[in-house]
Amino acid sequence: MRPRAMPIQALSLATLALLLGACASTPAPDAMTVLRQAEQAMGGTTLKTIAYSGGGSGGTFGQAWQPGLAWPGLSYSMLARQVDYENAALREDFGRSRSEPTGGGATPLMGMGEARATGFVRGGNAWNLAGTAAAAAPVATDARIHDLWTTPHGVLKAALRNQPRAERRSEGGVQYTVVAFNEPGRFAATVWIDPAGMVTRIDSRLPHPVTGDTDTRTLYSDYRDFGGVKFPLRMQQSQGEHPVLDITFKDVKPNAPVDITVPDNVRNFSERVASDKVADGVWFLAGGSHNSVAIEMRDHVIVVETPLYDGRSAAVLAEARRLVPGKPVKMVINSHHHFDHAGGLRAAVAEGATLVTSAMAKPYFERVFANPNSVNPDLMARSGKSASIVGVSGKQVFSDGNRTVEVHEMQGSVHAQGFMMVWLPKERLLIEADAWTPGPAGSPPPPALNANSVNLVQNIERLGLNVDRILPLHSRVAPMSELLAAVGRK
Ligand SMILES: [Zn+2]
Repeated sequence: MRPRAMPIQALSLATLALLLGACASTPAPDAMTVLRQAEQAMGGTTLKTIAYSGGGSGGTFGQAWQPGLAWPGLSYSMLARQVDYENAALREDFGRSRSEPTGGGATPLMGMGEARATGFVRGGNAWNLAGTAAAAAPVATDARIHDLWTTPHGVLKAALRNQPRAERRSEGGVQYTVVAFNEPGRFAATVWIDPAGMVTRIDSRLPHPVTGDTDTRTLYSDYRDFGGVKFPLRMQQSQGEHPVLDITFKDVKPNAPVDITVPDNVRNFSERVASDKVADGVWFLAGGSHNSVAIEMRDHVIVVETPLYDGRSAAVLAEARRLVPGKPVKMVINSHHHFDHAGGLRAAVAEGATLVTSAMAKPYFERVFANPNSVNPDLMARSGKSASIVGVSGKQVFSDGNRTVEVHEMQGSVHAQGFMMVWLPKERLLIEADAWTPGPAGSPPPPALNANSVNLVQNIERLGLNVDRILPLHSRVAPMSELLAAVGRK
């Protein structure tokens, strides 16, 4: 018998629906269509600027008390952002205080008030307000560009111009359209768009001077309508595995006037290293927010601290080479793991230097320095070198037979664990970071005792160091008598 073709009527309606359903779900959604529909749903099509503010909690990224712990907790009395999408510009103002006593960051110690700060980015320039003056902040550029283009409407605009790819994903019983894109050299992101067309989640990856490719998750919820523009009242963000923001917005103003112009001194900024010879073969390297010290040894140079990012570190290492021609920088001593102080260590690895840090930070650095830096390969990634790290526990002495350099671990600091200071016994010079930052020359001692300065004095006395001058890794060289005055001693 000849087989007969099955008549279409033999297929049940249910089977037909299943087949059609399967066919309809096979092709990937068109990313451009999905993004335009979401932008329409969120009222972003004609949105040129937006200003919003609120308050909540957070954590100070990169300032953990101990390497690997969560970022120190913060309370935000205010966080305000102004965004200008047409000019790729963002302004952020905040007031924040500590909600836990330990860890670093430019926030007054617990119970000592709040820090207010203002930061900007426009195009490829980032800067901060220091009083009323603008100070270039190149280390913040990547993070602020990321913040600008991971705003709820900004992420759609960024995806639309960067060859997006879309797929459907189901999570928690909800069908999302997930769109992936790369902002070249800046960040990669995956945007989750819910069935109503709202951006509810962004998984992003941005380059960082310490942690390399750094993962961030941003959640947006509780969308409300502001004159046709949908905006989430809640933003929750974690970065490098720990929370950084949990903000509830109260005030949202679509198309508010936003005027962000790059100041000339920011546009023309380049790293400047001002060297000051403080002893025979010892130079204090200032000229920025963070200082370094170069120490000449018999056949090499030791640099204490390569801070911030590749650009600062490269300028410091170049100055060390200029000051001591013909001797390589073979060792870079890191005061502690906080990202502003450790941000140039990767460049020091590229230079061929051995890193010296605390025994506590060593495994942490080994782990994060092994992260790829694929979004924007840095000096270390391009050099192909890997870090060689010495971890100091308690004390370690480096000597060339003439000069001696001692690395000491401080005890009992609320600022950091694995907090190292460097002592030059012959020169009676002490190098320390963040434990004491002298005010402007001639200024009176601080009105309230600072626990970190008190702790520094305790450590100096415990070790019996007869200090003449202190070389702080912020601010200026100061005599020991000034530190004693700062802690209420004669
Ligand atoms: Zn610190």
